[in-house]
Amino acid sequence: MRYSLIILFALLFVIPVFSQIHIVDVPKANYKERIIKAVNEIQIIDTHEHLATEESRLQIGKKIDFTYLFRHYAKEDLISAANITNKGLIEIIYKNDFPLLDRWELLKPFYRAMRTTGYGRIPLIAARDLYGVPDISDSTVELLTLRMQAANKPGLYENILKEKARIDLSIMDMGRNNFDKKFYRHVERFDNFLLISSASEIIDIGKQFDIKINSLDDYNFALRKAFLAGIDFGMVGIKSTLAYKRILKFKNTSKEKAEKVFKSLLEKSKVKSEDVKIIQDYLIHKLLDLVDEFDLPIQIHTGLQAGNGNTITNSNPTHLVNLFFEYPNVKFILFHASYPYGGELGTLAKNFPNVFIDMCWSYVISPSYSKRYLHEWIETVPANKIMAFGGDYDFVEAVYAHSVMARQIIADVLIEKVRDRYLTESEAIDIAKMILRENALRIFKLDSSLNPMVNLKVLNKPGPLHDWWEIRKTNEGFIKNWKVIGVFDYGIGLNQIYPPENEIQYLKNYNGKGGIVKWETENTLPTGYLNFISIFSKRNTEINPKAKGIAYAYAEIKSPNNRKVKIALGSNDGAKVWINNKVVYNIHAGRGAVPDQDIITVEFKKGINKILVKVENIGASWGLYLRIVDPKKELETIQFND
Ligand SMILES: [Zn+2]
Repeated sequence: MRYSLIILFALLFVIPVFSQIHIVDVPKANYKERIIKAVNEIQIIDTHEHLATEESRLQIGKKIDFTYLFRHYAKEDLISAANITNKGLIEIIYKNDFPLLDRWELLKPFYRAMRTTGYGRIPLIAARDLYGVPDISDSTVELLTLRMQAANKPGLYENILKEKARIDLSIMDMGRNNFDKKFYRHVERFDNFLLISSASEIIDIGKQFDIKINSLDDYNFALRKAFLAGIDFGMVGIKSTLAYKRILKFKNTSKEKAEKVFKSLLEKSKVKSEDVKIIQDYLIHKLLDLVDEFDLPIQIHTGLQAGNGNTITNSNPTHLVNLFFEYPNVKFILFHASYPYGGELGTLAKNFPNVFIDMCWSYVISPSYSKRYLHEWIETVPANKIMAFGGDYDFVEAVYAHSVMARQIIADVLIEKVRDRYLTESEAIDIAKMILRENALRIFKLDSSLNPMVNLKVLNKPGPLHDWWEIRKTNEGFIKNWKVIGVFDYGIGLNQIYPPENEIQYLKNYNGKGGIVKWETENTLPTGYLNFISIFSKRNTEINPKAKGIAYAYAEIKSPNNRKVKIALGSNDGAKVWINNKVVYNIHAGRGAVPDQDIITVEFKKGINKILVKVENIGASWGLYLRIVDPKKELETIQFND
């Protein structure tokens, strides 16, 4: 009793806290109508669809009937509702050799059960808005069918996607099809390269690319060839649905380990399923190397899987964290609002500059979940990282109906945020434009003028910022091949002296953190990023490279004469640099690495110049960018081989 009194009191005090803090002025009259109008007028860039071409849709001809609106996700809820005692029944509903009204009688009890789910609302919205039939009932299914048959003719897609749904472009996940560019762009999947379990599958994949696969190197080459073909075909990103098959936790495995399993697969010996995972873990890294090299975004399925019966915990987006660390330049787009892991998703997208939210499919999974998390994400995640619409359907009526839900929920959220004086009306409308259109155009590089840096006047007028920009806008001069040693104990950080500061001896062993360490040759990612997390997690699985530590990287540059040279570097965290044994840079800082964080001028002598960089890790990500500004290309980086 005493406790319930305390709880009652606590509630009385807590309730006011739930209401929003007031940041901006009270909105002007009729703001709701204006926000709704603005959201409705946006030409959407739809980030995810599975549509067949209009041509193949029209082939159904007069056989189309009202049950077509119950395809795809609605069918999954019908199966879920019909449960095991009525197995097979749901299939009959779609077979038009049975009489229409009889099938409606079969559907009715289950429709009653699922018509209120998000999936179940889609046929209703489509019937109402596209076919002028106010409900789906005994008296309307025949009329609905007649109207659908009448509409099933050329121009259907133009009418539904462009005019009704006001979708400018949809990004299609249907492989390499001959898409009409007026409607679509496309992404491709390479999961089949990863999901191999036999020699014949490997050989078949090789055949598709005219490569005889005898080793993992051959296979990597086939993957590269497939990827390049996708680029030639105009793919704007890649898509992965591995969460349907396995957990999204991908370890950083050495090539040697993967090669071993790959060989036994090729030799047709029995391979355990855990061992197949080793190849997959290795190959996802190879795939991400390509994604990184060609600067394409990757869409990853997270959260709820389609179909009936799946392992939800496999698809928790937090499993992917190590990849976010290892590929800081790759844009990871996490799909489906990660239902039900919306809190985790928001945290990841807030924390990692390379993680983006995609709400495709989410409004039909749950309108209120979408609303709740959009509310939260507007408060937690920069608005240029949220893409708020992908229909994720295989028929156009549902894409339209889903877009109706999405626009309404987005408008609702924005109206509430303006009402609660968290956003101004113009901020709200600005967010809508970003999340429904601009972000997708920018992230998939569909419109280059949306890169905010391109038109910045301040970068183009003479001055130090312009000089920096001249360096920054090229991708040249990065040292991409280093000798690397580590991990050493952090000690007193950049002031803790280790042997590489006194001698560079490639063949010598030294005492490091968790055992012996030695110099090894390492290449950066294509962007020039030397990723110590990837390097050290491959070298020694016993230590955690995300903890505190010290590493050294060493390179040599040949110069034709004595000269002053500009070096641009970025490091995570702080760094100390020696040129020919002289300290030229020493900054202790907790920071993320970006190229050209600092630009220094140093003296190079004629002949070989030694660059030693010591990089500290005070936690989490760890890496280095370093490039030599050499516009006339007179300097030569000495290449290290193993
Ligand atoms: Zn999909």
